[in-house]
Amino acid sequence: MEVKLPNVILTKLDRLVFDKARPYTMWPLTFGLACCAIEMMATGCSRYDAFERFGMLFRATPRQADLMIVAGTITKKMAPNVRRLYEQMPEPKYVIAMGECAICGGPFYDSYSVVNGADEIIPVDVYVPGCPPRPETLIDAIVKLQKKIKEGKIKR
Ligand code: SF4
Repeated sequence: MEVKLPNVILTKLDRLVFDKARPYTMWPLTFGLACCAIEMMATGCSRYDAFERFGMLFRATPRQADLMIVAGTITKKMAPNVRRLYEQMPEPKYVIAMGECAICGGPFYDSYSVVNGADEIIPVDVYVPGCPPRPETLIDAIVKLQKKIKEGKIKR
């Protein structure tokens, strides 16, 4: 007797559900490094109200965060702490470099005390230009990051 099996897809539940939901439930780590952080905060305030609309809740511990928004100048004294916080975040995790300082050191480029961009110490997925970038630009970066995650373009 011939037994016909229906089409079956074998996968893990977390693959099926969480990978689909991940771009819409990113939890950023709560911290800011300099003036760009003010614009990051403005992005979440009532005028733009962007973070909740994107399913994003700021977390005060790296253990519960999967997104780091590097908003501001990374001094050489602060760099080891930024690296440590990144390492404490569980995989998969993502990084947005917000502002010229986080991209390349900005007005402090090649200064004795400033790192020339976040990507010198951690991998960066999306860069947000501006000094400081406006909230609309950060919102655009979040949408770009969601797109990259959905398309599976982020590999470590
Ligand atoms: S990019 Fe400009 S606004 Fe942002 S932290 Fe640097 S100096 Fe401040």
